[in-house]
Amino acid sequence: MRIAVLGGSFDPIHHGHLIAAVAAREALAVDRLVWVPAGTQPLKVGGHGAPGTDRAHMVELSVAEMVGFEVDRIEIDRVGPSYTVDTLTELAARFTGAELTLLLGADAAGLFWKWRDPAGVKALATVVVFARAGETPPAGVADRVIEIPRLDISSTAVRDRVRNGQSIRYLVPDPVMAYIAEHGLYQEK
Ligand code: ATP
Ligand code: MG
Repeated sequence: MRIAVLGGSFDPIHHGHLIAAVAAREALAVDRLVWVPAGTQPLKVGGHGAPGTDRAHMVELSVAEMVGFEVDRIEIDRVGPSYTVDTLTELAARFTGAELTLLLGADAAGLFWKWRDPAGVKALATVVVFARAGETPPAGVADRVIEIPRLDISSTAVRDRVRNGQSIRYLVPDPVMAYIAEHGLYQEK
């Protein structure tokens, strides 16, 4: 079985992430794509805008009807910082015999050599970097680069719009928009 792992803050998940995931799954022909919302991220300055449980829930709301997409709370449930090498080690043990692919955006790939045990990560998984037109992934990280459609959406822009009272309709799935409103997420910095 071929499993792709897509990590991120997903603070919140938006259509850029979802389109990228669909494109990556098609390009790689993987059986399952596992979304892994990040727990405490050692390299993320200032922490997250929303708690891990909310971020994971919004990913679940977004992929509920997508066959082959699933959400794993492995990093959310872990106490302390999350290192990708630990996550992949756990997933490799859980899905014995599976071939793991780690999906990274070009910006995440730029930080790869600052991660804990990058060589260990490469030993556990094939690293695939997805790049939008005009993005150049850093050399030496990717085993393969795939090009994905460019949707100029970021979680930062979504959070800013919420805080400014602007609409986020069409930037995020409707259930995510409703969840953010219902739980009063991202109202303040
Ligand atoms: P932030 O604005 O807080 O940095 P983000 O929108 O970049 O958030 P992340 O959760 O940090 O979202 O991203 C997870 C992964 O998705 C990263 O590897 C990132 O490169 C990628 N990504 C983010 N936005 C897009 C997009 N619009 N299209 C394709 N990939 C994206
Ligand atoms: Mg980002």
